[in-house]
Amino acid sequence: MSSAAPTNIAGQKHALPSYLNADNLGPWGIYLQQVDRVTPYLGSLARWVETLKRPKRAMIVDVPIELDNGTIAHYEGYRVQHNLSRGPGKGGVRFHQDVTLSEVMALSAWMSVKNAAVNVPYGGAKGGIRVDPRTLSHAELERLTRRYTSEINIIIGPSKDIPAPDVNTNAQVMAWMMDTYSMNSGSTATGVVTGKPISLGGSLGRHEATGRGVFVVGSEAARNIGLEIKGARVAVQGFGNVGAVAAKLFHEAGAKVVAVQDHRVSLYNPAGLDVPAMMEYASHSGTIDGFQAEVISSEQFWQVDCDILIPAALEGQITAKNAPQIQAKLVIEGANGPTTPEADDILRERNILVAPDVIANAGGVTVSYFEWVQDFSSFFWTEEEINDRLVRIMQEAFRAIWQVAQDNKVTLRTAAFIVACSRILQAREMRGLYP
Ligand code: GLU
Repeated sequence: MSSAAPTNIAGQKHALPSYLNADNLGPWGIYLQQVDRVTPYLGSLARWVETLKRPKRAMIVDVPIELDNGTIAHYEGYRVQHNLSRGPGKGGVRFHQDVTLSEVMALSAWMSVKNAAVNVPYGGAKGGIRVDPRTLSHAELERLTRRYTSEINIIIGPSKDIPAPDVNTNAQVMAWMMDTYSMNSGSTATGVVTGKPISLGGSLGRHEATGRGVFVVGSEAARNIGLEIKGARVAVQGFGNVGAVAAKLFHEAGAKVVAVQDHRVSLYNPAGLDVPAMMEYASHSGTIDGFQAEVISSEQFWQVDCDILIPAALEGQITAKNAPQIQAKLVIEGANGPTTPEADDILRERNILVAPDVIANAGGVTVSYFEWVQDFSSFFWTEEEINDRLVRIMQEAFRAIWQVAQDNKVTLRTAAFIVACSRILQAREMRGLYP
């Protein structure tokens, strides 16, 4: 990415929120470039496009906790509400040592786009704490989560902003958040977070939903380019909630998962890795490191001979450096923001189809929406109902985006942005400016 602030289509510098470093925009800079690519297709709504280039609200909080050894540690936390035009904020909370404001801003914006792309009635939000949760005990993690929730308490709520799991957060963390918010409000507020345990108003199918959506969108995209899932060779980066479930579903559909990379190691088996055994192994050890398979380097992982590549870890993984080496015909973005705009261009030139994050990984938030609806109505659906509705929404959204891509001769990412940004800005325009 260039070090200068990106220019918009009129060649003007973006007016940046003053709390951003214009010389290093990080992931937010990537998002801004994606907005610039969609602007020419927004027609008269382009008048409102600046709305998308600045978050509505960004909260930075200090999260102090007492560690088990008696010392006090301070962590920096964020909750960013990018856009609330179409409904309450919605998006996960990430615990990771590399979390920055720029990253959380970009992730919140991608949530706005994602929620509009699949047409769930939410705006976009995201939260995070800069912490390596592996360094904390269970009790420390609980104190951290509860203090963070208290700090952002004033801007979240079932009809204001609804957090969910993301990288390194799970149903237990959501249970603590739900309890802390409920204690502060004096009522049991199940709808304040999604991705909760089933016993607290969680939804069947939520845990697998993101990986399932990756599989549904991947299958649709593969069919459109004449690629058979049965026998297809798949490489997956990330073996968490998204990557492992996607790998399992592709494996069950007859694909061969030939390579998997997690935060510790890259494993390879051209005959196909035993995905269920790997999941079992990872559930005990927290990594695939040590699982019986050939170890390859990270560079080799990106060059693996495969048909489908699924980045399902962090942003900025497919870059101008490794994109020329990728062998896949199809990239399905399980992670948020895994491909830089430069890499997008290289993949397009090389005729490699990218199913973008804002549709490919929208299964999670779609079932979050089901969870929220079930909590409001206190009426719970069967797993079959949930999966059927999920598949229908994802297929319809993907097909509509595919059509827009064909009609405008643009990438699926730009097509998804056209559909989503039009919906957001139509809502913005109809609501009008206040006061
Ligand atoms: N963290 C997930 C995402 O990036 C899910 C968000 C949600 O369910 O609100 O889409």
